[in-house]
Amino acid sequence: MTQDASPVAPRRLLDECVHCGFCLPSCPTYQSWGEEMDSPRGRIHLMKAVADGKEPLTEAAVGHFDRCLGCMACVPACPSGVKYHLLIEETRAEIERTHQRSLADRMFRGMIFSLFPYPRRLKVAVFFQLLYQRTGLRWLFHRLGLVRLLPRRLRNMEALMPPVALRQLTDRLPEHQPAAGTPRARLALLPGCVQRVYFPEVNQATLRVLAAENCEVVIPPELGCCGALSIHAGREDEAKQLARAAIEILEATDADTIVVNAAGCGSSMKEWGHLFRDDPAWAARAARLAAKVKDVVEVLAALGPVAPRHPVRVKVAYHDACHLAHAQRIRSQPRALLSAIPGLELVELDNDSCCGSAGVHNLLEPESAREIGQRKVDSVLAVAPELLVSANPGCTLQIQMLLRERGKDIRTAHPIELLDASIRNAPLPGSDSE
Ligand code: SF4
Ligand code: SF4
Repeated sequence: MTQDASPVAPRRLLDECVHCGFCLPSCPTYQSWGEEMDSPRGRIHLMKAVADGKEPLTEAAVGHFDRCLGCMACVPACPSGVKYHLLIEETRAEIERTHQRSLADRMFRGMIFSLFPYPRRLKVAVFFQLLYQRTGLRWLFHRLGLVRLLPRRLRNMEALMPPVALRQLTDRLPEHQPAAGTPRARLALLPGCVQRVYFPEVNQATLRVLAAENCEVVIPPELGCCGALSIHAGREDEAKQLARAAIEILEATDADTIVVNAAGCGSSMKEWGHLFRDDPAWAARAARLAAKVKDVVEVLAALGPVAPRHPVRVKVAYHDACHLAHAQRIRSQPRALLSAIPGLELVELDNDSCCGSAGVHNLLEPESAREIGQRKVDSVLAVAPELLVSANPGCTLQIQMLLRERGKDIRTAHPIELLDASIRNAPLPGSDSE
């Protein structure tokens, strides 16, 4: 076996950890339980022990890796530059290749991954959700206490379901959005899977803002999932299959930039080069495409505004999505864009860690995700914003659920929706006059 062919994660990357512990306070699972084995340092130690054959990949060991959110808060916190995100990604892939999960776990994971990366299937699920919510079935289900009889993961999924409307089934994106004036950039938009189905208004707002900022946008209708959810769960082959299809479609657009408005998708697409590093047929293509990927706030910040902003008088708290703040190091751009809206008051949360969503982590590990999310919601309630802004659909769904459960009526929006309201001088998302 070569030095880099360890069974869990590359030995070279594992050895970069000097076990100093500086990363521990940043880790949400360490904050929750104070357990070394549920900290980045403990998990790296466990990866090494498995790699050295000192520990088998037992159910308990897998549990410590499963409980990692993949939030990457430990990456910028590490003075030695340990690439924990690559380590956990490799470890997860190895677990999925070699570890036999329980039948119930396999069935639940199978259900998630045959649904969420496929917008058409997700729309069918939304149709049944609409029936469930609008026919009074949901009310009855809760009234009779039947929801408590559901297995814990399904019970959590039921709670996560946001209120849905017919518009989520009927929304269509154009294939081409011309710039309002002389084009400054030619972009291709990835509409996302969860974003496209649950938050179609975010994609519509993105197109309007980009058009107003003189960007021409193409939206390939056949473009599906980028593979982000699968890669975060260690389903490497599935992620590669989805990524290959997306790369082929995006290459054909010949766009200067691939614009993304969901943090989890953007961070994963920027790592496409790494995903295909051992595949000579795809490595260069994937890396070339990955270099073109930018979050929408990066694109707008780099171009600078041309569309006039109108006042939006609202108190806003901005939630840093982990896959934007930690994975892509994008913190200042969304704040600068929001602060440039006249009349908008931007308040900071005292908790910049994960909300518990973390890809599909909140579906797979609902109790831990809830505990972590409650800390985030505490910090939101402490600053009492009128609107909570988040650039990732998973975070928005998770925080919405926890706010609903606490009976708090705080609206949520994507930063691009606020810019859209300001540019159009239109009511805020979710307001009565909208
Ligand atoms: S990951 Fe970095 S910060 Fe954490 S223990 Fe290792 S070297 Fe220290
Ligand atoms: S990715 Fe997040 S949850 Fe996992 S070890 Fe790092 S800080 Fe902790």
